Amino acid sequence: MLKSINGEVYDPANDIDGEVRDVCIENGRIADSVDGGRTIDAAGMVVMPGGVDMHAHIAGPKVNTARKMRPEDHRLDPVPRTAQTRSGVGKTVPSTFATGYRYAAMGYTTAFDAAVPPIAARHAHEEFSDIPVIDKGFFVLMGNNEYIMQQIAAGERERMRDYVAWLLEATKGYAVKMVNPGGVEMWKTLSNTHGLDEEVSGFGVTARQIVQSLAEASMDLHLPHPVHIHCNNLGIAGNWETTLETMKALDGRRGHMAHVQFHSYGGNPGDLFVSRVRELADYINNNPNITVDIGQILFGDTTSMTGDGPLGYLLHQVTGRKWVNVDVENEAGCGIVPIEYKDKSHMHTTQWAVGLEWYLMVRDPWRIALSTDHPNGASFVAYPQVIRLLMDREYRRETLKKVNQKAIAKTLLPDLDREYSLYEIAIITRAAPARILGLKHKGHLGIGADADVTIYNKCDDQEEMFSVPRYVIKEGEILVEDGSICRETFGRTLYVSPLYDTAVEKNIREYFKKYYTIEFENYPVQLEHYLPRPCEIPTARDS
Ligand SMILES: [Zn+2]
Repeated sequence: MLKSINGEVYDPANDIDGEVRDVCIENGRIADSVDGGRTIDAAGMVVMPGGVDMHAHIAGPKVNTARKMRPEDHRLDPVPRTAQTRSGVGKTVPSTFATGYRYAAMGYTTAFDAAVPPIAARHAHEEFSDIPVIDKGFFVLMGNNEYIMQQIAAGERERMRDYVAWLLEATKGYAVKMVNPGGVEMWKTLSNTHGLDEEVSGFGVTARQIVQSLAEASMDLHLPHPVHIHCNNLGIAGNWETTLETMKALDGRRGHMAHVQFHSYGGNPGDLFVSRVRELADYINNNPNITVDIGQILFGDTTSMTGDGPLGYLLHQVTGRKWVNVDVENEAGCGIVPIEYKDKSHMHTTQWAVGLEWYLMVRDPWRIALSTDHPNGASFVAYPQVIRLLMDREYRRETLKKVNQKAIAKTLLPDLDREYSLYEIAIITRAAPARILGLKHKGHLGIGADADVTIYNKCDDQEEMFSVPRYVIKEGEILVEDGSICRETFGRTLYVSPLYDTAVEKNIREYFKKYYTIEFENYPVQLEHYLPRPCEIPTARDS
């Protein structure tokens, strides 16, 4: 039992905006009242639900390949062992232990990996069981899955839907993800798709059909999170039109647009980027079926890692830096390239401004999640810097003076005066991502919610405030004090288990025999071996 008293509580899902009140915890959940137990006097402090990161890259083969590829990165940031925690490395691709500790030390208690190839689900779960403190889950890559494309081309809508459900069940994944739909498959023959209506060669389908079919399947299966879309043409001048077309292609169906910053550029391919956030934000403001996370970039060195193989190649060409490409049989691919964002660069300044424009131009914070697309735009540990840029107009103005002036003059950022309140920050860092993910017990402090609570010392410098919480409570236990882990626990893995007609398995089995290097029977992740720690199907819990 635990009680926080006298704290200034920000719990937007329950309309609580800075009211001084108590938060009571019993058996790992928020309770109405408690007798006994420890009491935290949070007078002068800010109390929020634990942070929820809905789009990051923290586990699986792509992340691990990036770790192997960047020894120079690890050397800069060793994480020594303490009495409570294990050693590791940090920087842009932290080791498993460091990933959990650093999220927790920053007040985040839940994080999702946004791109795991189904065949690598085992690897991702093995890493998850090594990531301490936080609850986690992953999205399953399906936008270049050969079986799915074949079913779409054959008009086998129900079979495709059942396969999607089977795949989520087999991988113990949480949601349907697509990355450059059709384009990653085309890249395997050294090509790419450039628009929604270009045919994926050898399959007779288009990106538009893939987007619509997977959006529909996610809705038909009543998945808690709608289809999660990384559009075609990421990082290409002029790509805003593809992004707008993709949003329109959803045609009222629910969809989440990932790291929209990277998809909002005007100009002709090969030109310098110009911002087209105004047009896209207008569309979002008028179409409540769509949510976004931003993928903010911050200046400095990081690692780009993406399921978008052709994009990895493009970045390698632009930066001249080392890179890795991996094609995943029948399913997906990836590219990894180190990258440094420079404040004197015209292109990087534009990207930085585009991200901030997104935060400041979408009217409804409930449809935005704060993200840097960790580590693509920056490490997740930079979230407090993003928060300060949103909350402190003066700080933003000072920062504007240091970036490429020609680039910034072409953006709308210097004219945007909006400042986020603590209430709005609580929305975009916990309440909204939890709601967008369909996590009914997270992102709020109502009775019965998971007792994941972060308590911050109030401070005028929001970057400092959000970097080092005074207390972080996970499932009712104080695990972090003054930014240091005082006890190591392991959170839960979250996955879905949608209903489907098992008749589809006969067809999938035949497909495996013909095309996979792995037997059908060996493909599904066995719960007892790969998820030995607590796991949960969040939609099944009803209190
Ligand atoms: Zn991503």
